[in-house]
Amino acid sequence: MAGNRTFTMIKPEAVAAGHAGKIIDMIIQAGFEIKALKLTKLTAEQAGKFYEVHKERPFYQELVDYMSSGPIYAAILEKDNAVADFRKLVGATDPAEAEEGTIRKRFAKSKGENAVHGSDSDENAEIESNFHFAQEEVLA
Ligand code: UDP
Ligand code: MG
Repeated sequence: MAGNRTFTMIKPEAVAAGHAGKIIDMIIQAGFEIKALKLTKLTAEQAGKFYEVHKERPFYQELVDYMSSGPIYAAILEKDNAVADFRKLVGATDPAEAEEGTIRKRFAKSKGENAVHGSDSDENAEIESNFHFAQEEVLA
């Protein structure tokens, strides 16, 4: 199982702009299978905890405010080499640097409001999945 799953969020500005369906379609067309999915809204406290690793970075408060500003979709995705392949589909943090065909190139507004989250390691994929989903909400 290790290495086959990753975690994603469709961020508030992309949901508000009505892009969630198109982003989910890109994810499925790229060969990822959705194992869990929910529409939710983070409190500032939850967003702060989720992004705790960035606590010392200058953009932390802005990131917390943004990620708790509106509804998001959270999902667990399965595919061979899920973490790395999903980061490739997502594209660079700054959409100005994202490659053609990536989700961020197509939908991100800025380096902060960049449409989607993608886990950066198998370990974080597991931690982040458990943060958002109870075991019974996740398909085997
Ligand atoms: N972020 C930001 N300003 C920056 C860098 C990051 O607002 O200079 C935000 C952005 O939403 C990013 C998130 O913080 O997606 C987490 O940053 P990270 O470096 O982990 O980027 P990612 O892994 O999402 O590409
Ligand atoms: Mg990251």
